[in-house]
This record gives sequence, structure tokens and C-alpha cells, in this order.
Amino acid sequence: TVASSTSAELFDVRRTDTPTPAADREAALVSPKFGTVFTDHMARISYLHGTGWHDRRVEKYGPLLLDPATAVLHYAQEIFEGLKAYRHEDGSVWTFRPEANAARFARSARRLALPELSEADFLGAIEALVAADLDWVPAGGEKSLYLRPFMYASESFLGVRPSLEAEFLVIASPVGPYFAGGVKPVSIWVAEDYHRAGAGGTGAAKCGGNYAASLLPQQQAYDKGFEQVCFLDASTNTFVEELGGMNVFTVRADGSVVTPALSGSILEGVTRSSILRLLADAGHEVREAELPLAQLRADIASGAVREVFACGTAAVITPIGRLGGADFDLTVADGGAGDVTSRVREQLTDIQYGRGADPHGWMHRL
Ligand code: PMP
Repeated sequence: TVASSTSAELFDVRRTDTPTPAADREAALVSPKFGTVFTDHMARISYLHGTGWHDRRVEKYGPLLLDPATAVLHYAQEIFEGLKAYRHEDGSVWTFRPEANAARFARSARRLALPELSEADFLGAIEALVAADLDWVPAGGEKSLYLRPFMYASESFLGVRPSLEAEFLVIASPVGPYFAGGVKPVSIWVAEDYHRAGAGGTGAAKCGGNYAASLLPQQQAYDKGFEQVCFLDASTNTFVEELGGMNVFTVRADGSVVTPALSGSILEGVTRSSILRLLADAGHEVREAELPLAQLRADIASGAVREVFACGTAAVITPIGRLGGADFDLTVADGGAGDVTSRVREQLTDIQYGRGADPHGWMHRL
């Protein structure tokens, strides 16, 4: 695929003079627990109203010094992204559809009244950071370097209006396979008392506030003995939307596939759109449609829906084996991973890890 243009060469690389010793780094890459280990550097760009984005740099990873009146701490004007860098068999390092994350980041910025960052800067920051911390990209075994771009309102001002200053950073964290013991079906609790997003709200943006709203219902799902929470639409409490951090798919007995349509309150997952494409390529009838909970319950009970799975960057594709709520508790088929789920998961990870062809030019070499 044609390389997108990036601003990587504009970054001033100020390497730390106290890098992690190689032996410690190698030890940290053996089986890192998600989101706990960070690389030596971070990429950063500052924004000032009137000046624009300036001071592109890669610097030592470390704490941020924030004035107590910093806007983000009060009004949550903040957005983020999540994507991964994968090391292929030949040692080369790649990201998966980073342009899609850049576009979503720009949409999130617009919704949160933050300054937009160009695709060239989004990709350039990732490229500059991964180049500085290349040795932190683990090899093999479904390991990867998780990349977390984010932007926050950095002006010290307590008035409620868009901040005139912002900071954009990318940090990186080596991660192992999401399921250490192999892919294992999860149980899902459908929240009927709480929603993560409503019509006209911020559900389609990747902003911290959406995740803050999901924590209490997620905890309730846990208390009920389920692993993840599924949200319904806030207007009618009728339609399945998505999980706290993953989109949802259903596979019907006739091989057709349905995922909730983008309602305005669902996050448009990069994994979701990729799966829609791969399943269509494989000859499945794929539909983005309203998915009423009542219909889903009836279809799981009758066997008309044979597989349900969740998808997102972190866990790729996760079979859903059990779906429960206040007045129901259903096992999907035999509760195991279905064939369509397993096949599309393998196809997607083969593309990401360079084990298979990349027919759509989704991989971006770093
Ligand atoms: N929905 C939500 C709410 C999410 O946080 C995520 C993770 N970004 C997803 C869906 C899946 O998106 P993606 O496939 O781009 O990771």
C-alpha cells in the first residue's frame, strides 16, 4: 500500500539518558500484564490557540506536571485512541489501519471542542515514538506494543468553555495475548438501569467521560457474576448497542451476520469495520441493523442465532458464551467459540501479524 505522509521527521528526538537496561526490558516483555509496563519515551505535541500545533518532540516517559486548575481535571475535555504495533516474523514492525484511528481521533476532537490534529501528525507521532522505542515491540505469541494517543485540555482556567491550550501525547505499552490461556468465551450482563451514552451525547467519540459512565454498571455486572457489561440505547432501552469497550456481532444459523448499526451513540470500531469487510469477502451476508434485545434473546433461545462475539483492538475477537440480565440467563449455542468467530479471528490476526495476505492494504509499515 502507498505510505501515508507523516510528520515524523519534524520531531525533535530527545532520548533519555537513563534507558531501561536491555535485560530488564527483555524481562518486561515476557508476559506483560495489560497496561502496566511503559516504554522509555513518549511523543508529544503542544497546542496554543493562535499558534497551532508546535514543539513536536519525543522525550523521556514521565509524569506530567499539571496546575490544579487545568481544564481537563474539571470538565473532562479529553479524547484518546488505542491501536497496536505488531512485529512480523522478519522483524519488521507494522500498525493496522492507523489512518482509521487518526480519522476517528479527529472526529472525537470535533465533538469535544478540542483542536483537530492532522493525520500526518497523528501518524508522525506514532512513527517517531516507535522508532525511538523499537526494541520494546515484542515478537511472537500474539504480543504487540499497545499505542495510546491522547489529547487533553491543558489551559489553567475554570471557566466552562473550550480550552485555548491542549497537549497531545502518545505513550506505548507492551502487551501479551489478552487471554493468557487461549481464547475463552466471556459472559455478558445487559445493563437495563444505566446507559453509557444517549442521543446527541458523546457515545460516538472516544472520550474519557464515556468510560467513567461505564464503570459503575461494569462493576454491577461483575457483582452479578458476569465479566462484561452490554449497553442498550438510552432512548428506548430496547436495542443492543455495544459493550463498555467492544462492539458486538451476532451470527445466525443461515450464516448471515448482524451488528448494531452506528446509532450515533456507538463507537465505530476499527475492528468492527474490518470484520464487516472480511465476512463480506468470505461470502457472508452482513447487515448493520437495529438489534432488539427481545429478538436476540428469542433467537439465542431458539438457536436462530448460533454465535455472538465482541470485538476491539485489545482482545481482537472474543466469543460471548453467556448473555444475562435482570430476568434472563442464556447460553449461546453450547457456550463455546463458534466456527465463524474463530475463523474471522484467525484471518484478522494473520493479517496483523503478517502471516497472511493483506488484500485491503490495511498494514502500515513503521
Ligand atoms: N466500543 C468501545 C466503547 C470501545 O472503547 C472500543 C475500543 N476502542 C471499541 C468499541 C472497539 O473499537 P476498535 O475496534 O477500534 O478498538
